[in-house]
Amino acid sequence: MGYVDLHLHTTASDGVLSPSEIVRYAKAKGLQAIAITDHDTIEGLEEGLSEGEKIGFEVIPGIEISAEHSSGSMHILGFFLDIHHPLLNEKLGYLQKARAERNPKIVEKLNRLGVDITFGEVLKASGGGQVGRPHFANVLLEKKYVKSFQEAFERFLKKGAPAYVDKLRFTSKEALHFINEAKGVAVLAHPNTLGMNRYSGLEKLILQLVEEGLKGIEVYYPEHSSSEVAQYIALAERHGLLVTGGTDYHGIEKNGLDIGVGRGEMKIPYSMVENLKALRDRSL
Ligand code: AMP
Ligand code: ZN
Ligand code: FE
Ligand code: FE
Repeated sequence: MGYVDLHLHTTASDGVLSPSEIVRYAKAKGLQAIAITDHDTIEGLEEGLSEGEKIGFEVIPGIEISAEHSSGSMHILGFFLDIHHPLLNEKLGYLQKARAERNPKIVEKLNRLGVDITFGEVLKASGGGQVGRPHFANVLLEKKYVKSFQEAFERFLKKGAPAYVDKLRFTSKEALHFINEAKGVAVLAHPNTLGMNRYSGLEKLILQLVEEGLKGIEVYYPEHSSSEVAQYIALAERHGLLVTGGTDYHGIEKNGLDIGVGRGEMKIPYSMVENLKALRDRSL
């Protein structure tokens, strides 16, 4: 059995490769399957799925939803979603509408800070998909207002920085509800961004999420230390949760991070896909 990557972004959100490109790239890299998990949107899935069919490569329809959380950030992955499900589409519509209102506010704030930037430029940088802060960062970099992508976040875009505008987030309960309604298998993405270092606090949160419909934990992730991995495996075992893994590859070389392998150390077995499928089939 081969290897997979269950956390990837395309131009439908803030990735650099189009859905077809990422599918072809994954196949060329020798992977057996991928999940496309764009932030807050399923717009890339139809293209990715049909490219997969065309070239004979397994593509799992997925998503990554940002949820409300008091510290750090909480992202929830959904796998095997029914992309035509009305509730899912209604909820994602709210997120798109909120972004459409948020983006001009970021432009305005930047303009007031003396940055010459238009929404048109950001739109162009987005490659036609959903517009987010990384696209603003790229324009700031291109126009030499900052020396790096990271500096754009530090000086302007991150939470608390002068051009930050908050975005609409669902509660975990809402997100888990519509993922489950749309037949998706819900998995907590990269728990190390939750900002919860104590095992007991994390466990309490996981219990709440399980109650709300969580089915798994993304244990294997490039930014997880080996002790974090051990901790997340223990949590998954104690609470009967699935284990998944993915690189969060955005199509650009970020400190040498690549699809499937992360920074060289990752190997995500196809058996994780089988486990997801078994769970999906059980709840059908
Ligand atoms: P948005 O959905 O528009 O709020 O943008 C969120 C995306 O911006 C995340 O998925 C990250 O890729 C990126 N991002 C957020 N915070 C930072 C940060 N402090 N440094 C670098 N990238 C960030
Ligand atoms: Zn992203
Ligand atoms: Fe994430
Ligand atoms: Fe991601």
